[in-house]
This record gives sequence, C-alpha cells and structure tokens, in this order.
Amino acid sequence: MTNVCLVLSIIVAMLAGCQSAQISDTPAVELNAQGVPGDVTAIAPPVGLNLTAAVGYEADEETLTKIKDSIDAFSVLLWEKTYGNMYVKSVQLKNNSQDGYIHFEKLEKLGGHAQFGGPFTVNTNLLDLDQKSGKPGVGVRVLAAGILHEFGHSMLRLQDEYGTTRECIMHPQSRTKDFCPACKEELQNRFKLWRLPAEPERADWLKTHPCPKAAINIT
Ligand SMILES: [Zn+2]
Repeated sequence: MTNVCLVLSIIVAMLAGCQSAQISDTPAVELNAQGVPGDVTAIAPPVGLNLTAAVGYEADEETLTKIKDSIDAFSVLLWEKTYGNMYVKSVQLKNNSQDGYIHFEKLEKLGGHAQFGGPFTVNTNLLDLDQKSGKPGVGVRVLAAGILHEFGHSMLRLQDEYGTTRECIMHPQSRTKDFCPACKEELQNRFKLWRLPAEPERADWLKTHPCPKAAINIT
C-alpha cells in the first residue's frame, strides 16, 4: 500500500512539475521604466511578464504589504480576464524609488494615469478606502483594479470608456473588473495568437486553470 501511495505521489508530483515547467519556460517580457519594449502582440501565449514597480515615497511596512497584496490581486485579475493569455511572472518592488514600470504615488485626485506603451502611475490613496468604507481589504481590491485599468492603457492600448454605458474595467464607474465585449474584440484583433475566451465551450476554465503565483520581491 505504501509503495502504491509513493508511486502515485511521484506521478502527481511529475504532472504538477510538467504544468509549472510549461508556464515558467515561456519567454517573459521585461517591463521597466522605459515601458513596453516594442511590439509584444505577436508573442505566443501565455505571455509572462517580469515587471518592476516603484513606490515614489518611503512607505511604511503596512502600506508596503498592501501594495504587494494589490500587485498579487492584479496578477490574478490579469490571468483571469485574459484567460491565461498574459500573466505576471515576477515583480521587483522598490520602496522610495522612481525606477519602475508601475509607479505607486499619493495623488491628489485621480486614480492614476498612463500612456500607450509607457510606464504608468496608480494612486495609493485608494488604500484609504479601508477606513472610509469600514471594510478591510476594499482598498487593496480597488488598487488592483486601478492597476489593471492603467495596464489596459499601457500594455493593451485600450481607451478610457468614461461617459459610455459599457460595463468594463476601462470604465471604472461601472465597477466591473472584466473587459467588455468591445475591448475583448479589440484585444483579439490586436493579439492575434490569443484566444478570448480560452475555450468557449467550457464555463469552468478558471477553476481548472489557477493563476501561476507571481514571485514578488521587495527591495
Ligand atoms: Zn471595454
């Protein structure tokens, strides 16, 4: 019995190893302060990202942990909303630095700003939503959605949808974390090797394709 269990364990470990090797062996796009390096639309999915992120001020431990959690939540959103066509592989998060693809700043009003292909900025004041709403964790989730919105401009070259009736991450007031059908169509036209959704006949794709864990290193 013990031997059978051992053999089964080895087979399971090998299968798990195959799956992670498949993901980790894919080439990664390096995203730093220079922004998106050229045309990434012809890279075969899954497209892994190694990105740098910088907090533009000296953040305390609690804030730094929440920023890390928001990056983690963003990586899950990116994986899920692109059906595994793009995902975060690793993140170098620097405190009190301007050297990053993602800039975390305390902004007066806006949620963030970005240009097509460039590095982008998100507002860590969104983390204050925990106190304002009385619901712990809201700030991290909203900041994660904010990162996906600005990433939508920078990497995916999607326009703002303010003033429309679309339910979309590109229209933050609609409070949706997904891309609307028009954005998905635009993504499919731009990233011709992507499949959106991954497997139209399967509603449970996400259940069987958990997001690879992003390696986040704080310096
Ligand atoms: Zn949209």
